[in-house]
Amino acid sequence: MKGLLILTALFVAVFGKETFEGDQVLRITARDEVQLTLLKDLSEMEYLQLDVWMETTDLPTSVDIRVPFTSLQTVKAFLETEDIEYFIMIKDLQVGLLSVSGRKILFELTVTSLFLSLQIYAFQDMLVAENPNLVSKIVIGQSYQGRPLNVLKFSTGGTNKPGIWLDTGIHSREWVTQASGTWFAKKIVTDYGRDAALTAILDKMDIFLEIVTNPDGYYYTHTSNRMWRKTRKPNPGSSCIGTDPNRNWDAGFGGPGASDSPCSETYRGPKAHSESEVKSIVDFVKSHGNLQAFVSIHSYSQMLLYPYGYTRTPCKDESELHNLARKAITDLASLYGTSYRYGSIINTIYQASGGTIDWTYNQGIKYSYTFELRDTGRYGFILPANQILPTAKETWLALMAIMEHTKDNTN
Ligand SMILES: [Zn+2]
Repeated sequence: MKGLLILTALFVAVFGKETFEGDQVLRITARDEVQLTLLKDLSEMEYLQLDVWMETTDLPTSVDIRVPFTSLQTVKAFLETEDIEYFIMIKDLQVGLLSVSGRKILFELTVTSLFLSLQIYAFQDMLVAENPNLVSKIVIGQSYQGRPLNVLKFSTGGTNKPGIWLDTGIHSREWVTQASGTWFAKKIVTDYGRDAALTAILDKMDIFLEIVTNPDGYYYTHTSNRMWRKTRKPNPGSSCIGTDPNRNWDAGFGGPGASDSPCSETYRGPKAHSESEVKSIVDFVKSHGNLQAFVSIHSYSQMLLYPYGYTRTPCKDESELHNLARKAITDLASLYGTSYRYGSIINTIYQASGGTIDWTYNQGIKYSYTFELRDTGRYGFILPANQILPTAKETWLALMAIMEHTKDNTN
């Protein structure tokens, strides 16, 4: 009975308020700078309420944009007039949500019970209780709405050992990341003492893992709007809510590749570190003082990226970071053949200012990386549940490559 109640609640939650009936996701290709500028102008017309899911920089460049049903005619007419090529990636987002995230995920939920933030919180406490000698929970702060910002610490003892940081879900709609983070936690516990490589890493270093990095947003993706990306803090003087927590860091803050409009999906916030979800990590990084690797995990696009995003100036460790990225994505591909691109943020996706790993790198954390997990746009953020496990497993191989290299290059 309790299961049925939970299921009903979830059903209401998943099929809650915001619907995407008739919305389409278009993959639009700009073949030159002129078309790229036109696309930028288009995406900034607020009344169209476009939602840019993914973009790249190299020309010809492809951009995935969710176009609300009410704007479809305008946008398509515009593209056709300007002779800009596009094709329809997702014909009706709501239908996609119902078939992919709906029944399928509901079924998976009853099996794994891991997807709602509350369940992830319960899972974390269970992991700590079952493995008190290896896992502890640190609350590094509170979200805007008062939810705890939990970090799992995996440690074999000792004080202030060099650390590795992993986070998932800073953009709340990127659900495969929180699910993968949960799997990583379990994997670490399972492999310690059994897998030589992971054991060696944990004997020398501590691993910190924040799974629900944007809990208010994550909750909102379950209750109201599956496509919510930002935090949930109101913006005074605007009816639009939230800040992009991956544009809010004090690294090129306010520069190109972030918006100063509260209604934008890439709104940078009123000032650097204005979001408690960001500030709590900033404080943790500074107080820990000995983090050697920092990996922030997003989806989608299948990319492994290193600094910088806000400037074209290469970071001083670029060749080492580049080689390590190649090794990591090669290991990742060895499992299912999933192909990743890699490089600096600005050269691989786009210019983005105020990003997480630019800030951590500037703090002296050399091995700063961002992942964009599966897929390349067929499903985008509504990746089918049967891809969660393969995604987590292949990503783990890349993480191991980065963590081992960090261990071998840390005193
Ligand atoms: Zn993201």
